[in-house]
Amino acid sequence: MPGSAHSAAADGTLHNGHAEATASGSVPVVHSFVKGLIYLPSAKPASRVAESASASHSDAPAGANPAVAYSLIDAPPAAECAWCGHRFDGADTRRPGRTRCSRCGVATTSPWPSDEQLGDAYAVWYRPTAGRFSGAGDAVLKRTRSALANGRDAVGVDPYSNGANPHVRAVEFEEMTGEWSAVIFWHSLEHLRRPVRSLRHAAELIVPGGMLIVAVPNATSMQARLFGDRWLALDLPRHLVHIDPPALLSQLEELGFRIERVSYLRGGQVLFGWLHGLVGRFPGHPDLYDTIRRSEARQAAQSPAFRLYALGAAVVALPVAAVGTAIEVARRAGGTIYVQARREQKAS
Ligand SMILES: [Zn+2]
Repeated sequence: MPGSAHSAAADGTLHNGHAEATASGSVPVVHSFVKGLIYLPSAKPASRVAESASASHSDAPAGANPAVAYSLIDAPPAAECAWCGHRFDGADTRRPGRTRCSRCGVATTSPWPSDEQLGDAYAVWYRPTAGRFSGAGDAVLKRTRSALANGRDAVGVDPYSNGANPHVRAVEFEEMTGEWSAVIFWHSLEHLRRPVRSLRHAAELIVPGGMLIVAVPNATSMQARLFGDRWLALDLPRHLVHIDPPALLSQLEELGFRIERVSYLRGGQVLFGWLHGLVGRFPGHPDLYDTIRRSEARQAAQSPAFRLYALGAAVVALPVAAVGTAIEVARRAGGTIYVQARREQKAS
């Protein structure tokens, strides 16, 4: 979803290379050997796209509870918290498709999908080559997302990249080396099997005084509580962890970061989360996210009449969604959390 992504990179400190004297005189110039790094894992290995293209759509009927449908897959329940490593026992809260850790408050997707099941969940329908959204959706998404890196010396990291984009490296994030002035996890941390290990690696890559930016869905937001199993950003099983803001903030501090800014709006998707949730309450549980996608990018088929019904429901729900957004952001319980943190000058 296009969100306020464009504003996330507006801070010049993202690109604060080292000042050095030029050979000819004493004027300091910015030397960009320290680069920005953006982590954006996306699709699945290209080799697997073809084989699963035909079977990639959800088997669950349209309108089914997506969390309950996911909880029925053939995989073992998550044995431990993917965030803090706590072994699950009777004290943890089990809900369809996820288990909330009694120690850290982060929920882990359960059953825990195999690599193959996860690959199928990222199959071709999720991100077709032609684009995901109908109408102007893809253009808006491209403009807001690419603005994150525009004018900056930045690289993307996507282990499943097909190599077509020279600015994206097809490696795992933890294979990245070097010194970086910033690392950005833009709606990507929740897709990782070991998110805290990735944060720790980011702390090693970022130079003292450098910046870490994280935007993730807020699993304890008002909209997450209200819409429950049908919350847009639950997105099982692609989202493997469902993060509680205090757990994220305390983890960053533990890794030697100083929190400079927290926003419950800037991460985007807040209004759409409400709209999607409210439309899902209408008879037949229309999936608005599917409705605005191209037909080949939908999880389940939608007739033109049903699409029209879903879009009409969205128009009706819009004022309520706007009010819901305003309330949850004001209460610092918005649908996403955006954190800007600086690595302390002295290594911790
Ligand atoms: Zn935990």
